[in-house]
Amino acid sequence: MYKLATEKLPELLQCWSQGATVYVPQKVGEVTLFRPFKGQGDLALGEGNTLEPPKDLFFPRTEKLYDYWASGKEARLEPVELHPDRAVLVGVRSCDARSFLLLDQVFLTRGYVDEFYKKRRENTAVVALACTQAAPTCFCTSFGIDPGRAEGVDVQMWPVPGGYLLEALTPRGEEMLKQASGLLAPAEGEKIPAPAQPSLQVELEGLVEKLQKMFDHPYWGELSRKCLGCAICTYLCPTCHCFDIDCETIETSGYRFRCWDTCLFAHYTLMAGGRNPRPTRKERLRNRLLHKLQYFVERYGQFACVGCGRCLELCPVNVDITKVIRDVKEVSL
Ligand code: SF4
Ligand code: SF4
Repeated sequence: MYKLATEKLPELLQCWSQGATVYVPQKVGEVTLFRPFKGQGDLALGEGNTLEPPKDLFFPRTEKLYDYWASGKEARLEPVELHPDRAVLVGVRSCDARSFLLLDQVFLTRGYVDEFYKKRRENTAVVALACTQAAPTCFCTSFGIDPGRAEGVDVQMWPVPGGYLLEALTPRGEEMLKQASGLLAPAEGEKIPAPAQPSLQVELEGLVEKLQKMFDHPYWGELSRKCLGCAICTYLCPTCHCFDIDCETIETSGYRFRCWDTCLFAHYTLMAGGRNPRPTRKERLRNRLLHKLQYFVERYGQFACVGCGRCLELCPVNVDITKVIRDVKEVSL
């Protein structure tokens, strides 16, 4: 374990910037976002979670898949050869770190490996920052997440008086600490701070079994009456990963791309013949919630919510997934 003095943080980021792009929470106007470190900027490592999760580093909002040319009966495809730059993602909280493991399940397992996601994921080192204070909307511990120690990351950082403690958790993390050894001192006598203790909790015991019996329950109709269908909750959710595939053609050539989409939009499930299996917000909001709390558990054995609280905080009409979980427990079948 090593200690970094607070004033040396920019030097550490500069050091990790050699041969890589370092993304770190920075103040952008009123909010905090992961942005490339360029030697200056308003670093905001101590300000809780970022407005947007950093999932777009592995799963960009839009991504070209291949180019094509077609003329008469001739057609040619040229796949995009992706060689992403090395990246270091610094200041990831435990909830967002768990979300990467959930996205790994989607993009890398069950017989299909998404090469675009895989290359970006492999090229990115993740440095977590422990939470010692929870926001009122945080409920990560309900999902077995430890705010004080993230899973699947290369380096764990803890904030302590006068600086940060750092521990390497993978060989890549060890290399990174070695690279920065001139800035670090052995952390003798330093204590790892106590993790945050979110006061918001949800009880998940029996939830999946209850939801399995609730597909046609009138609860979804009542809940969706206030939903605006704006999809803020999905675009800001670290685990949402729906996408659409489309193409852009100009005369004889073009490219195929994918872009973020959401099951809360009517067109997401609109079929070519005009039928839509999720015609109203009731079916769409139900799908979003069942996907997180039932379907993902059935497929991957884990909930697709990490308790980051972003949707609680930012839904304009207070559709609150923790209240949904409590309501589901209460409704009669
Ligand atoms: S943020 Fe709220 S209002 Fe907007 S789609 Fe999600 S649940 Fe509905
Ligand atoms: S559903 Fe809401 S609380 Fe859960 S991970 Fe997504 S944004 Fe965070």
